[in-house]
Amino acid sequence: MTRSDSMHSSDFIRTIIAEDLKTNKNQGRVVTRFPPEPNGYLHIGHAKSICLNFGVAAENEGGVCHLRFDDTNPSKEDIEYIESIKADVRWLGFDWGDHLYYASDYFDRLYEYAIQLIKDGKAYVCDLSTDEIREYRGTLRRPGKESPHRTRSADENLELFERMRGGEFEDGSRVLRAKIDMASPNLNMRDPVIYRILHMPHHRTGDKWCIYPMYDFTHCLSDSIEGITHSLCTLEFEDHRPLYDWVLDELNTACHPQQIEFARLNLSYTVMSKRKLLDLVEKGYVNGWDDPRMPTISGLRRRGYTPEAIRNFCERIGVAKRDSTIDLALLEHCLREDLNKRAPRVMSVLRPLKVVIENYPEGKVEELEAINNPEDPDMGTRKVPFSRVLYIEKEDFREEPPKKFFRLAPGREVRLRYAYFIKCVDVIKDKQTGEVIELHCTYDPETQGGWAPDGRKVKATLHWVSAPHSLDAEVRLYDHLFTKPNPADEKEGPDFKAHLNPGSLEILKSCRVEPGLSGALPGSRYQFERQGYFCMDPVDSSAGALVFNRTVSLRDSWANIAKKG
Ligand code: ATP
Ligand code: MG
Repeated sequence: MTRSDSMHSSDFIRTIIAEDLKTNKNQGRVVTRFPPEPNGYLHIGHAKSICLNFGVAAENEGGVCHLRFDDTNPSKEDIEYIESIKADVRWLGFDWGDHLYYASDYFDRLYEYAIQLIKDGKAYVCDLSTDEIREYRGTLRRPGKESPHRTRSADENLELFERMRGGEFEDGSRVLRAKIDMASPNLNMRDPVIYRILHMPHHRTGDKWCIYPMYDFTHCLSDSIEGITHSLCTLEFEDHRPLYDWVLDELNTACHPQQIEFARLNLSYTVMSKRKLLDLVEKGYVNGWDDPRMPTISGLRRRGYTPEAIRNFCERIGVAKRDSTIDLALLEHCLREDLNKRAPRVMSVLRPLKVVIENYPEGKVEELEAINNPEDPDMGTRKVPFSRVLYIEKEDFREEPPKKFFRLAPGREVRLRYAYFIKCVDVIKDKQTGEVIELHCTYDPETQGGWAPDGRKVKATLHWVSAPHSLDAEVRLYDHLFTKPNPADEKEGPDFKAHLNPGSLEILKSCRVEPGLSGALPGSRYQFERQGYFCMDPVDSSAGALVFNRTVSLRDSWANIAKKG
């Protein structure tokens, strides 16, 4: 059994790779790459590609995965993005070792390759404008028209290309094009542009270049230079594969990787293109790339997602050839599954209602034992203070309880978790507004731990905190960023931003959390009992001013979907 059989359910890509190993196609090597363009932060869709590329490499003896920055467009790229991408890949749990590369490191070699194509009569300098090139290209129904410059001699092309490089011409005035076939049914093969003029410094090569290679020329050659065996990319590149192969064949490169396409991840209630995400960031619809509502890796991390949950999600959705949209509820389900095992339980009251226990001695404090995680006895217990004045959740009391509301109401007895039975004996209201501002209760000292010696039952168990001991905290509740399952669908309208959910962020001030959280570390995760999973915000929280993000609520809509299905 190979390692890949034992660790992963297989998919069509892993099957191809296993077959190549069997036939010794690449002398037993498996070399993949993850090739982000540093023009934005990584999102959950990239995680799918990362898990696939690094996963395939890890599953095969001696397998390697490169991290390569596809940095050929200095107008959109930035060092900030490079650093964030590296941090995100590492956080997801993957390691490129020594294999960190930049397409810009190949600019000299790519230039040499372009010269070779020109010499071979396979590329020419074209003076048509961008619009003219588009016009000449034709459409799926209409064949293209040859550029008047297509017949330039190799010598003339060499001279013009060198002058392009020398900075003699303006942006957009000339391009280098591959000479392929203007009548090809594949538009990508109708003499694609492979170099353009761009007088703009590059974040790595500085002012050295004023011409930059295009994606289709750069990508295949970078793969080849690095000795990649399997170049895994998303379906939109399927139509580019003939060009990928053409460039490598014409240049007769020693290494000719196999490009294999798979379906990209689409997720409901969010958008997944860097251009759209950048739009949200730049126009201030969210608070930066790492806003916990964003589908970016940094947003998910700040929200409280674990790398394990994301990797598990990627494994469950699998890799296939057909496009589909995955329900966000599945991602949340994977997250709950992981946090349920590892997140310590604490009691926090998000919308506090004061409760005075009339028959509990003034000044007395008991330290009651609470279980840290019922799923994991090894996580032990802790002490929580109980005193005469407590807070419970506002929504856990109703003055006139409807049917099936079993929580606290006048005259009714409920259990306080890990503590006592209490009974509501009086309701204090604000004289002006009539709002309930305080409850008076009695407790039964015989019920410590939550059970009555006389066997009487209560129908509800509430969480609570001791008022004088609890800590103040801000809690941020998050909901879907969009109100539509597919906000980017053109059928929903021209601008996806019209479907932003105005209720995607609710900020609660003056929440009360149990005192044990005073030592919480930024980024640490908890289950607030009966409320959901929360994460101490790594950016805005500090010891004196606690801020928690709701990572995910406890209600698992995926479990319901799965049951129905
Ligand atoms: P976007 O469309 O979000 O801007 P991109 O394709 O331009 O993404 P790149 O930086 O070029 O972003 O992507 C790096 C790699 O990640 C590529 O191989 C790409 O195919 C892959 N990738 C991007 N988005 C997804 C996705 N939603 N699902 C799976 N893989 C993806
Ligand atoms: Mg791209």
